Amino acid sequence: MFNLKMCTFDTFIIHLRLIAGNCVSLKMVKKVTKIGVLTSGGDAPGMNAAIRAVVRTGTYYGLEMFGVLRGYAGMVDGDIIPMESKSVANIIQRGGTILKTARSKEFYLKEGRQKAYNHLVKYGINGLVIIGGDGSFRGAQAFSNEFDIPCIGVPGTIDKDIAGTDFTIGFDTAVNTAVQAIDKIRDTAEAHDRLFIIEVMGRDAGYIALHSGIATGAENILIPERKTVIEDVIKGLAEKERREKLVNLIVVAEGEEFGGANEVARFIQDRLPQQEVRVCILGHIQRGGSPSCFDRLIASRMGYAAVECLIEGRHNIFVGILNNRMHYIPLNEAVKKKQRISEEWMKIVKILSS
Ligand code: ADP
Repeated sequence: MFNLKMCTFDTFIIHLRLIAGNCVSLKMVKKVTKIGVLTSGGDAPGMNAAIRAVVRTGTYYGLEMFGVLRGYAGMVDGDIIPMESKSVANIIQRGGTILKTARSKEFYLKEGRQKAYNHLVKYGINGLVIIGGDGSFRGAQAFSNEFDIPCIGVPGTIDKDIAGTDFTIGFDTAVNTAVQAIDKIRDTAEAHDRLFIIEVMGRDAGYIALHSGIATGAENILIPERKTVIEDVIKGLAEKERREKLVNLIVVAEGEEFGGANEVARFIQDRLPQQEVRVCILGHIQRGGSPSCFDRLIASRMGYAAVECLIEGRHNIFVGILNNRMHYIPLNEAVKKKQRISEEWMKIVKILSS
């Protein structure tokens, strides 16, 4: 079943025809001996668990491990530290990221990436694990197109807006934080018969809104992936008022096209002046806190898989989980596509709030 296609001094391509019928192409460039790990872009709870998994797996295999501080910004500045098993002790339960994260304008430019490459060469780093969102993967793609350092992405973003994986690190924690907060708001909303418009994070993706809205029994969920027909929202509220159904909650993603919770509230208040409308913007609490068991678990699995990938000679992919199995997806696929909102879920929202 193995078909050795091409072999040069240090480069060879093996086409593995797997029994399942999958065909996976592995391009082995150089043996990876020194791995750099970084967290980039928006922070997400569980990033520390992923850093730990990367460092401990690399150490287990006898590789030299390095942490790049402040994402690509630290790579451009040469902010790089050696890491060992001890460096990641007692962090699995901590939110944030011990490596810090940042956004880097310089990395968008060829010169910035060249500077970053020079620093990696100085340390002898010949493999990179990038924990971040689709923007960070775009950066990894640009970098690996230019330089011979294999990059493996680990999806870490509370927004769950990366195609090719069922989960991203941080989403579960963020959505549970939102649910806990919304439950509390429901208590006070009900006590006063107030309508609360709650804004959750999600500039381009409505997953936090969708999941937390369904889980808290929200009347309406407004997300960027759907056109907000505000007249329908008003009609629905007026109709429920006639039926004397108490309506307490509308969950809005920050990137919702009408303009977010404040705009939605203003409009509703205008049209239904008898309603007592309040706004609550959950904001950054959704990024913080100790990661959930689920996020720690997927961070551990993904971090481990990323190092295995580098050892096996895979490159320019990210590790994802589909149907509870690890999957290896080209970086550019995360960048090209977004996850799709399920029609069925939208139907569930409508039916269960009627
Ligand atoms: P996230 O990973 O959370 O989506 P960003 O979109 O802010 O975060 O991306 C993180 C960083 O990745 C950016 O600040 C930039 O340094 C780098 N980056 C993003 N897109 C590109 C690109 N097209 N080329 C080079 N670097 C990029």
